[in-house]
Amino acid sequence: MAHSKDFYATLGVSEKATADEIKKAYRRLAKQHHPDANKGDARSAERFKEISEAYNVLGDAKKRQQYDEMRRLGAFGDFVRRPGGGATGGFRGAGARPGARPGAGTPPKFEDFDVGGFGGLGDLFSSMFGGGSQQRKATEPEKGQSIETTLEIPFRVAAAGGKVPVELEVNEECSACSGSGAAKGAKVSSCPECGGRGSISFGQGGFAVNRPCPMCIGKGTVASEKCATCAGQGEKRDRKKVVITVPPGTDSDAKIRLKGQGGRGVRGGPAGDLVITFKVLPDKDYQRDGLDVIVHKAVNIAEATLGSKVSVMTLDEKRVTIAIPPGTPSCKRFRVRGQGIEKDGKRGDLLVEVRVNPPTELSHVARRAFEEFAERAGLKY
Ligand SMILES: [Zn+2]
Ligand SMILES: [Zn+2]
Repeated sequence: MAHSKDFYATLGVSEKATADEIKKAYRRLAKQHHPDANKGDARSAERFKEISEAYNVLGDAKKRQQYDEMRRLGAFGDFVRRPGGGATGGFRGAGARPGARPGAGTPPKFEDFDVGGFGGLGDLFSSMFGGGSQQRKATEPEKGQSIETTLEIPFRVAAAGGKVPVELEVNEECSACSGSGAAKGAKVSSCPECGGRGSISFGQGGFAVNRPCPMCIGKGTVASEKCATCAGQGEKRDRKKVVITVPPGTDSDAKIRLKGQGGRGVRGGPAGDLVITFKVLPDKDYQRDGLDVIVHKAVNIAEATLGSKVSVMTLDEKRVTIAIPPGTPSCKRFRVRGQGIEKDGKRGDLLVEVRVNPPTELSHVARRAFEEFAERAGLKY
C-alpha cells in the first residue's frame, strides 16, 4: 500500500481545517482503525499508524505550522528552488536510499497520541520519515545545473547561420554576501536540521528520496544573521543575456551545448551547461529540402506561355534572373546551382518552383483577346 505523505489527506480534512475539525476527524478515524478493534487486520494497523502520524503533526499547532511551511517550500514533491539551480529548477542528486520505511515499528497505543516533545524540524523529520541518513556532507564543490531551453530561430538565420541573443533566467551569486547568505560578521555554523548535509531523506513506501533541507535551503550551513540583500539565499534570480551562434545549415531539433553557461556552481564548483534545442520557424518564401532551398515564383499566363525572364532572391539576398522557356507548366523547377544551404563544406542549390497564376480579373479587351484565342485554337471554355 502506498504511503500517503499528505497528512491532510490522511485525515480527510482540508488544509484550512480548524484544530477542532482535525481533532474530530482524527478521533473518528482512530476509533475506526484502532488495533484493539481490528485484531489481525494488517491494513487497519497500517492505516492506524498513518492516522496517528498525521495527527501527531497536524494536532500540534507548532508542528502543523512547520509542516505547512515545508509543504509550501515544496518539501513534499513540488518545485524547489535551490542554490545553483538553473532555470529548469528541480532537484539535482535525488539518490534513492532503500530502507527508510516510515511508520515502522510497534503501533502506538491509543493513549500515547497526545504526547508531544518534538524539537526542531530535524526531529519532526526523523519521527515522520524514519531518521536521517549517512550521506556526505554538503561541503565539496558541485557543478551547477544544466539549463535546457528551446530556441526558435528564423529560417534564414538557420540556413545561413548567424547570431541570436537570448535572455535566460539564472541564479546569480549574491554580490553582497558572495553567495554565503550570511550578513557581514555573522557566525556561520553547520545546519542543525540536516547535520550539514544540505538535504533530508524522505521515506516513502520502502524507498527514500532526498530533498533540499528547508532550513538551510540546501547549503548545509546557517548564519546567525542573514544577508539582507538576498534574504539568506546566497543568490538572486537574474536575467542573463547570452548570444547564441547558430551554425549554418541548422535544422529543427539540432542541439548545441554551451559549457559553463548554465546554472552557477555550488560551493565554488563549475557552472553547469546550457543546452539549446533549435526550432526553425517556417519562412513565407523559402522551404528547405536537405541542403536545397525551394522558393516559389509566381508567373502570369503570358510569361508561362510565351516564355520570359524572371528574377528571384537568393538566401543571401542576391537577385538572380532565370529564363522561363515558352510553355512552362506550374510546379516546374529551375535549379540555380550553389545558392542553397552550405554545411560541412557542401552546398545545396536554390530550386525555383514556378506557379502559374491565371488572372482573376480581366478587362473587356483582355477578355475578348482570350476568347478569340480560344476560338481560333478550337478550345472549349
Ligand atoms: Zn546575500
Ligand atoms: Zn540544513
